[in-house]
Amino acid sequence: MKPIVAVVGRPNVGKSTLVNRLAQTSDAIVHESRGVTRDRSYHTADWNGREFTIVDTGGIEPLKSDDVFATSIRDQALAAAEEAAVILFVVDGRTGVTEEDESVARMLKRCDKPVFLLVNKLDNPDRENDSIWEFYSLGIGEPTPLSALHGHGTGDLLDDIVALLPEEEDEVADEFPDALNVAIIGRPNAGKSSLFNRILGADRSIVSNIAGTTRDAIDTVVERNGKHYRMVDTAGIRKKSTVYENIEYYSMVRGLRAIDRADVALLVVDASVGVTEQDQKVMGLAIERGCAIVVLLNKWDLLDDDRKREACMETIDRRLGVMAPWAQYLRISALTGRSVEKIWAMVDAAEKTRSQKISTSRLNTFLTDLREFGHTVVDGKRRLRMHYVTQTGVNPPTFTFFVNHSDLVNDTYQRYVENRMRSTFDFAGTPIRLFFRKKE
Ligand code: GDP
Ligand code: GDP
Repeated sequence: MKPIVAVVGRPNVGKSTLVNRLAQTSDAIVHESRGVTRDRSYHTADWNGREFTIVDTGGIEPLKSDDVFATSIRDQALAAAEEAAVILFVVDGRTGVTEEDESVARMLKRCDKPVFLLVNKLDNPDRENDSIWEFYSLGIGEPTPLSALHGHGTGDLLDDIVALLPEEEDEVADEFPDALNVAIIGRPNAGKSSLFNRILGADRSIVSNIAGTTRDAIDTVVERNGKHYRMVDTAGIRKKSTVYENIEYYSMVRGLRAIDRADVALLVVDASVGVTEQDQKVMGLAIERGCAIVVLLNKWDLLDDDRKREACMETIDRRLGVMAPWAQYLRISALTGRSVEKIWAMVDAAEKTRSQKISTSRLNTFLTDLREFGHTVVDGKRRLRMHYVTQTGVNPPTFTFFVNHSDLVNDTYQRYVENRMRSTFDFAGTPIRLFFRKKE
C-alpha cells in the first residue's frame, strides 16, 4: 500500500503546479492503460525506490450538496490530514498570510502528521527570502521557500518527504493467503455501508476482522460457498467514524487505498442518481491499478418505472461504457437485499478472467488471424508487422507484441487489437494490458 502525500492550501497558491513538478522530478509511473481518463489529482511517484501517491486536494471537485462541510478548504485539508502520511501545506509568498491560511494552519496543528510549510512563488530566492518570515506566525514550524514554477529545491523536498514516510510495515501474518481481495468503492451515499452491513448480516460466518497493514485499515474476511473473500479497508465503511466521510475527497482516498490492494473492485453506483463524473474517475483509478471491476447498480428498488431505468442506463453508456465496455453490471438493492448474493459469482468470474493464462498456441492462432484478416498500420514505406506475441503477466492479463516498428502503433491500433483480443478470448470484467516492443 502506498503512503499518501496530500497537498493542501487555498486556491491559486500553486498546489497543482507543485504536484506536477514533483511528479515530473520523480518518476511518475504511467501505466499504459489507454482509454482511461487520467485523473490529474492523483499521481503515483517513485523517489529513490520509495513509492507514494501525491494527492492534489485542489483538483478534487467539491461534493455538490448543501452540506456546508463539503466545500470548505479547511475541511478538505482535514480530510486530507486524516488519510495522509505527510502533508504539504502550500502558501503564497507573494500575498503573505491570509485568514484562510490561518484557518488551515489551526486545523493542521491539531493533527499529529508531519507537515511541510511551503512558501511558494519565491522565484528569486536571493531577493525574496525576507518574505518568508511572516509565515512563522502560522505556528507550523519552519517555512521553506519554494518556486514550484522554476522547480528550485524540489529534489531536496522529495528527499525530505521520503525520509518522513512511514517504514514499510511488515506484512501481518496472513491467515487467509488464498482469499480474494475485494474493495467496495464509490461516492458518498451510494450505499457502500448498507451493502457491507447487508453482506455481514446475511453471513453467520464472518471469519475475522484483521488489522490491515496500515494503522486503522481493517480488513474483514467473509466466507461464501467455501471461498474466502477479504473485504479490504472496511474501517470507514463499517462504521462511519466522522462527518468527513461525506467529503468526496475522503471517499476517493479511501477508495484509492482499498483499490491498491484489491483484486476485484465493487463499484457501488447510486442508480437513482445515475453514474456521475466521480464514479467515472474512481473506475478509471481502479482500471489503472489493474483491478477487475463489477459495477453494482444499487438502489434499484427506487427505479420503479421505465423512464428512470432508461435514464440510469443512459448515464452508464455515456460515462462507463466508453471507458470499460467489458465491465460487468449487477442491479442490486442493499436495502431489500435484491441480488446481493449474486455478487460473489460475479466476483469469481471477474477474478477468473483476470488471472487466466492464454496458451501460446491460442495466441499464435490469434496472431495468424490478425495478420490475415486484420488491419495494420502503414506509414509511407513502412508497414507494421507483428512477429510474435507472448503473455507477460496475469492479474491483469498482460501481453507483449513484438513488432518491427513499435512507433507505428497508435491508440487506434491498440484499441483495435484489444477489441480483437476481447472478441477472441474471454476477458469479461478485467482490464488487460498490451505492450508493443520493437524486434527486427
Ligand atoms: P492551485 O489552485 O493551488 O492548484 O494553484 P495553481 O498551481 O493552479 O497555480 C495558480 C497560479 O500560480 C498559476 O497561474 C501558476 O502558474 C502560478 N504559480 C504557481 N507556482 C508558482 C511559482 O512558483 N511562481 C510563480 N511566479 N507563479 C506560480
Ligand atoms: P455510503 O455513504 O456509500 O456508505 O452509503 P450508505 O450505505 O450510508 O447509504 C446512503 C443512504 O442510501 C442511506 O440513507 C441508505 O439507507 C440509503 N440506501 C442504501 N442502499 C439503498 C438501496 O438499495 N435502496 C434504497 N432505497 N436506499 C438505499
